[in-house]
Amino acid sequence: MTVKVRFAPSPTGFLHVGNIRAAIITWLFARKNEGHFLLRIDDTDQERSKEEYVEAIQTDMRWLGLNWDSFSRQSERWDRYNALIEQLKEQGDLYPCYETEEELGLKRRSLMARGLPPIYDRGALSLSDEEKAAFEAEGRKPHWRFKLKHEPIEWQDHVRGAVKFHGKDLSDPVLIREDGSPLYHLCSVIDDMDLSITHVIRGEDHVANTATHVQMFEALGAKVPEFAHYALLGGKDGGKLSKRLGALSIGHLRDEMKLEPMAINSLIAKLGTSDNIEAYTELEQLIESFDFSKFSRAIAKFDPEELERLNAKIIHQKDFTSVKDRLDSMGLEHMSENFWLSVRENLETLNDVQLWWDMTHGEVAPDIEDPDYLETAKGLLPAEPWSEETWDAWIAEIKANTDKKGKGLFMPLRKALTGMSHGPELKGLLPLIGKAKAEQRLSGQKA
Ligand code: GLU
Repeated sequence: MTVKVRFAPSPTGFLHVGNIRAAIITWLFARKNEGHFLLRIDDTDQERSKEEYVEAIQTDMRWLGLNWDSFSRQSERWDRYNALIEQLKEQGDLYPCYETEEELGLKRRSLMARGLPPIYDRGALSLSDEEKAAFEAEGRKPHWRFKLKHEPIEWQDHVRGAVKFHGKDLSDPVLIREDGSPLYHLCSVIDDMDLSITHVIRGEDHVANTATHVQMFEALGAKVPEFAHYALLGGKDGGKLSKRLGALSIGHLRDEMKLEPMAINSLIAKLGTSDNIEAYTELEQLIESFDFSKFSRAIAKFDPEELERLNAKIIHQKDFTSVKDRLDSMGLEHMSENFWLSVRENLETLNDVQLWWDMTHGEVAPDIEDPDYLETAKGLLPAEPWSEETWDAWIAEIKANTDKKGKGLFMPLRKALTGMSHGPELKGLLPLIGKAKAEQRLSGQKA
């Protein structure tokens, strides 16, 4: 069997670390099995779907290196969906319902108040033709539900093992809205059938949907695909991730935080698996080590700091040519290879490079504390050429010639040399600042 899988985002928002997980896991499974990866845009919700998001999804995926073999959009397939809706109606698998949102809400609340699960009571199934006609005369339009068979539904899930449901424990899903447009569930099943999807891979929030989809595949006479439902990501405190999603959008991580795509791929691919989370630099490494048997069923905790740690490890290894274009686009075309090699080990993200540049090559207004001490320290600066060792040599001289130690020794130097009380290690900064500027700053001059 040739594996064929799809990533099916709804273009109603930007991709973020939570929903990119579906893309990364599905893509890795496809590539591991030398299969086909389809990017399917689930844009049946025409009010909320935006072209801007369709574009952004593709930009984000390209940036992460998740290439696709084919592309489809649900909004181009209405005729096909409508044809199969007719077929399902004829088969008696769909039935019209006239309840308003309010009435349904009331039913749900009253069931829950009695400690019962909020399963739709199939009230609409017992409507007489006259009652239906009366609703229509009132101007009500029906939505349509899929009539589930009250029988066991089972599948062997690639992550969750044996999954068992029973049709009677589920609400008949609404497949067609009042305006006649089909909902995601039906379109998804029809697409999976028509495009011969072999494995449906998605988050565990879809498990109950899948149970109803299994019966829809059967009603359409299609082969039921295999399923894998991975655990969702949670916040690091165990709470929901949703609160901070704006800051965790892929676009924000790329354009504002200037993260490396492989930091995101490494973390998202390995979170919630039995593999160690490491800074992988090639997708190939993630493909080779991918296996559903390594996935845990527990919520995987996402910690943004972990992303930054991985990012730092990856960026420390980047050679100048691989970042040159990005530096240029940040307006930093003046940075030389030598500068890059001296600072890269101190970066957490590419953004940090600006700080180093400003501190070493820009003008700094020194913050002077203890001027006599600074004058003495200035006199003890080693002769050039300077290197990473210069700092230690200088500090040894200061210790030998003054009674300064600890904070009283370091802080006045830092404040004079950088104008700030915190920042990157002076050991790396000092040779980049150079002796002339260092002397001026230690004397309190802007330099
Ligand atoms: N558009 C659906 C979603 O974003 C796709 C789910 C699926 O993979 O079927 O949740």
